[in-house]
Amino acid sequence: MNIHEYQAKEVLEKYGVAVPKGIPAMSVDEAVKAAEELQSDGATLLVVKAQIHAGGRGAGHFTDNPEGKGGVRLCKTVDEVKDAAEAMMGKVLVTKQTGPEGKEVQRLYVTDGVDIEKEYYCSVLLDRATSRVTFMVSTEGGMDIEEVAEETPEKIVKADIDPATGFQGFHARKLAFALGLSKPQMKSAGKFFANLYKCFVETDASIVEINPMIVVGDEVMALDAKMNFDANALYRHPDILDMRDETEEDENEKIAADNELSYVSLDGNIGCMVNGAGLAMSTMDIIKLYGGEPANFLDVGGGATKERVTTAFKIILSDPNVKGILVNIFGGIMKCDVIAEGVIAAAKEVKLSVPLVVRLEGTNVEKGKELMAGSGLPIISADNLEDAAKKVVEATKQAEAA
Ligand code: ADP
Ligand code: MG
Repeated sequence: MNIHEYQAKEVLEKYGVAVPKGIPAMSVDEAVKAAEELQSDGATLLVVKAQIHAGGRGAGHFTDNPEGKGGVRLCKTVDEVKDAAEAMMGKVLVTKQTGPEGKEVQRLYVTDGVDIEKEYYCSVLLDRATSRVTFMVSTEGGMDIEEVAEETPEKIVKADIDPATGFQGFHARKLAFALGLSKPQMKSAGKFFANLYKCFVETDASIVEINPMIVVGDEVMALDAKMNFDANALYRHPDILDMRDETEEDENEKIAADNELSYVSLDGNIGCMVNGAGLAMSTMDIIKLYGGEPANFLDVGGGATKERVTTAFKIILSDPNVKGILVNIFGGIMKCDVIAEGVIAAAKEVKLSVPLVVRLEGTNVEKGKELMAGSGLPIISADNLEDAAKKVVEATKQAEAA
């Protein structure tokens, strides 16, 4: 689960990670009040930041003013803050990470402007290759880290942390040296990294990304913050769960979660409905093997009902990229005739307009096949996984060409 920058900074502050002072605002009026409050506390430079679950806001643009400024604006006066807030609130911000459709800004963050000498990059994440929590730092902060990784990978320095000993002084020194920090800065950086580590572990985060991390005088601070949490551990963190902003989440993934379906949308055009995560993975693999591209990962689970299958089907079909569907079910706990009923009901309800290939195997398979054959729907039946993959790739190609 993702949270907004201002929320991530609240979490970080609790762990002693330094961040500039800031106040969230849900309206232009609130942004003005926030600016006045920060000014009366001594701020001379203010920054208005659009809060969306995507980075690259500074370099982004609003759809109603493509040549204008992005979602991070420096302001000297309260009037300028008001203008900036009006230009952002309710508008659609497009960044490298939002996709061309962008995201509507519903929340703002007004924060102290900081005199930046240099921007660094720092993130903490779980490295699946080493199975360890890993720090990644770079002197190339403030920019697209994927680009740095691609073009100048030597500028990214990593330190993986042994879970038995936790974060140690030598980790801090390695990272601080890599960033070329001075001695007094290193002291502050050491605390910063150690607090970040504690925060990451104790909140069950899956990533904490500080880009840019900056040094003001000798103090290391987080100027931007992104946090993502392991959804399976959220039950342990009701305070973090409260930060959830459902308006930022993929509509289909939300419906899927509410119906106990595991669904991840992907870029291809073949929708998949499968039971069991392993079978879903191999179905995606075999589609690729025969030259197709899956549009999603969808595991309906072992004990799915007719209603759940119907919901799953609707989710797949609501993706406009889907030009063909493969239903691949092994009826073990779940019987093939139940699946067939669900597929037929859903296909009728949504007026199926793309080719549908179904491969059923297992309990009540004959009954399932009979139901489909008698449904009057143009279902393409397949006898095994290979046959199914070939048929769906071919049918989808034809549908795409038509
Ligand atoms: P994003 O990564 O979404 O573009 P950031 O918070 O990283 O958003 O802001 C983009 C850039 O704007 C930063 O790299 C920094 O140069 C500048 N910036 C952000 N916040 C402040 C601030 N409080 N004071 C001064 N400059 C800032
Ligand atoms: Mg940033």
